[in-house]
Amino acid sequence: MAESQLYTLITPEIRELRAKTKAFMEEYIYPNEPVFRKAGPEADELMKSLRQRVKQLGMWAPHMPKEAGGMGIGFLKYVFMNEILGRSFWAPIAFGCQAPDSGNAEILWLFGTEEQKERWLKPLVNGDIYSCFSMTEPHTPGSDPTMLDTRAIRDGDEWVINGRKWFTSGAGRAAFAIVMAVTDPDAHPHRRATMIIVPTDNPGFKIVRSIPVMGEEHSEHYEVVYENCRVPITNTLGQPGDGFLIAQKRLGPGRIHHCMRWLGQCQRAFEMMCRRALERHAFGGPLADKQAIQWMIAESAAEIQAFRLLTMHAAAKIDRGEDARVEISLIKFYGAEVLNRVIDRAVQVHGALGVTEDTPLSMMFRQARMGRIYDGADEVHKMVVARRILNTFRQGQVYEFE
Ligand SMILES: Cc1cc2nc3c(=O)[nH]c(=O)nc-3n(C[C@H](O)[C@H](O)[C@H](O)COP(=O)(O)OP(=O)(O)OC[C@H]3O[C@@H](n4cnc5c(N)ncnc54)[C@H](O)[C@@H]3O)c2cc1C
Repeated sequence: MAESQLYTLITPEIRELRAKTKAFMEEYIYPNEPVFRKAGPEADELMKSLRQRVKQLGMWAPHMPKEAGGMGIGFLKYVFMNEILGRSFWAPIAFGCQAPDSGNAEILWLFGTEEQKERWLKPLVNGDIYSCFSMTEPHTPGSDPTMLDTRAIRDGDEWVINGRKWFTSGAGRAAFAIVMAVTDPDAHPHRRATMIIVPTDNPGFKIVRSIPVMGEEHSEHYEVVYENCRVPITNTLGQPGDGFLIAQKRLGPGRIHHCMRWLGQCQRAFEMMCRRALERHAFGGPLADKQAIQWMIAESAAEIQAFRLLTMHAAAKIDRGEDARVEISLIKFYGAEVLNRVIDRAVQVHGALGVTEDTPLSMMFRQARMGRIYDGADEVHKMVVARRILNTFRQGQVYEFE
């Protein structure tokens, strides 16, 4: 699809959806950010009431199909909405589309049995429970999950899971984890692992700690030990050995969701940078008049729009049911780099104010840095893009971005 055609998809319906999303952000999200940031009972109550309001507006779970309890708008239309939600860390929670629950809901929808959907997916999509995804281990490289060593051994009608995971985001409040464990060490590397649903009230599921991250004593990223953790075989997601196949299904859309939210973060930082450049006067005039600052603004505008069009293109490809591995990896590393550059420039233009907690920039900066690592480090995605493109040339063809 030509990129210009992507814009024709901004139908009156999408325009209205965007306007409603923006209005909600302005009325309920931005003014309440200080409350959410403080966390605690007041924030919880407020979030509960906002979620109710979103449901009443018919804007709940925009990432899920209608039959699964969501809006059913597909990927491309979701970009137009999610880039607005992504401007604030708390908006996706209010709209029931926050990570890692969104990715977990998608794989439960695609691979779950009827019983699993009833027990886990329904309350998850409805926002009654939270979940987590437990793949990365401290002692094996997350970039190469064929080296995972958490084991699940079959004992009668049960799996017995033993291993240590970390960066299991959201484990502290999750009702269940989807854990990736080796079930057949002798199989082909990509058939060794299986995804298994583990209720977090299982005595074998033990939270070791909330990992201090980027200056925050408490983070939502947890280290977890699975110690003789017994769950029924019926908790297997898909078939034994399907772990990598499902991981690809999960991580592909999950990466696009991150990119959509990052567009919102880029845009917010960009707007702050422009406003500050106009307001702040030094050396006889506003910062906006200095060429060095103008270059930052022009380069940021170009990079954000390139990132946006690439994201829309990848989303359109997924909506067409086509393989978008290259496109997804491309926006994952390019988007993470743009995100970091734009927020860094916004901090720079704000001077000392940019590193204080008086603006959202400091938190945005810390979060952005992690984006270059989670869901696959930049280098790994560059490797995937280059390998796939080179493979087509190896076969005597040309890789074309259609
Ligand atoms: C904020 C955050 C949230 C996360 N949430 C989750 C979660 O919910 N669930 C979960 O399971 N995991 C989660 N993770 C883990 C994340 O997926 C891993 O950190 C990531 O896959 C990288 O693995 P690693 O940290 O073990 O780094 P390693 O695999 O040890 O890699 C270290 C570095 O080596 C370089 N590198 C690796 N491979 C190559 C290569 N082929 N070529 C060149 N350089 C290379 C890269 O620069 C990389 O950053 C999260 C991580 C973060 C930071």
